[in-house]
Amino acid sequence: MSVLIYAENADGKFKKSIFEAVSYARAIADQQNTALTAISIGDVNADELNSLAKYGADKILNAANAQLKNFVNQAYASVIAEAAKKEGADIVVLSNSFSGRGLAPRLGVKLDAGVVDGAVELPELNGGKFTVKKTAFSGKAFAVVELTSANKVIALTPNSYKIVEAAKAEKVEGFSVETNESDFKAMLKEIVRSTDKVSLPDAEIVVSGGRGLKGPENWGMIEELANLLGAATACSKPVSDSGWRPHSEHVGQTGIAVSPNLYIAIGISGAIQHLAGVSSSKVIVVINKDAEAPFFKVADYGIVGDAFEVVPKLIAAIKEH
Ligand code: FAD
Repeated sequence: MSVLIYAENADGKFKKSIFEAVSYARAIADQQNTALTAISIGDVNADELNSLAKYGADKILNAANAQLKNFVNQAYASVIAEAAKKEGADIVVLSNSFSGRGLAPRLGVKLDAGVVDGAVELPELNGGKFTVKKTAFSGKAFAVVELTSANKVIALTPNSYKIVEAAKAEKVEGFSVETNESDFKAMLKEIVRSTDKVSLPDAEIVVSGGRGLKGPENWGMIEELANLLGAATACSKPVSDSGWRPHSEHVGQTGIAVSPNLYIAIGISGAIQHLAGVSSSKVIVVINKDAEAPFFKVADYGIVGDAFEVVPKLIAAIKEH
């Protein structure tokens, strides 16, 4: 028995959410009194690979070849499943990222494992039961799921577990596995990055705008506030539907679910479908000129005021400090 963490990279780098997932997997390995192996797939340099040891990986497998350079769901799932079998891992941890959500069910099939996606807490081990708390109904509720299978796959929601340093000796091993042609039936041809801004799903701070901002020409102040705070920008659905902002920024039930440390909602009413994607944020700040806006009910801090007066003042105050 052991634990395997899939350390996904973005352009050869591990994001903060991966270090959270490694810390989480380390804590599970400690619960089980067993070892933690990390597997990285694709082009990642030695320093970056070794950084996984800092958060508790006892061993780091590096599966790198030309075929595996870009993410391919089926092929990556095959490599991770083979690594789990080779390491005798009965628990596989992933980040509940875009690719993690694609990999988790495939690993469930390949390893005959029970799957929990959107996990937000460490598993509880009570009287032989293995339960995991996860988000449900697009973040509107939590569910506690019992996994009764011998093998288990857990995808951890970004920003829901703290990074804990638990330095281990750096130990990177090459890992090669025979992939099938059928693993490469659907190939990623190209990734076109729209911007070099902070990635929304991983952001610690999100500045989000709604229809109250009147039009795309007013997003300059949202961008400026986000830049000053090192935040990602987001928006409500009607904003992206109207083409004011790209669809990749739309948060909510039908968009991206985020759980940053700070979510600043500006000119957004707080419809239930929007809240579904943001309610697990640690601190919510709402700026709305309508004191009755539903968003204030879930806000930790609220400013009743016109965004066109409040946001420039906020920017000026941040610049002063
Ligand atoms: P509005 O509801 O128009 O609210 C604008 C707000 O701005 C108001 O509260 C107003 O008081 C405030 N305001 C106006 N002017 C100012 C000003 N000058 N300064 C400060 N505040 C101001 N929505 C999502 O966001 N995400 C989803 O994933 C999503 N999924 C949906 C799925 C379904 C099936 C359905 C039916 C709807 C979905 N919606 C979703 C839409 C959702 O119901 C709301 O219509 C939407 O969230 C409203 O967006 P908004 O708050 O930006 O706009």
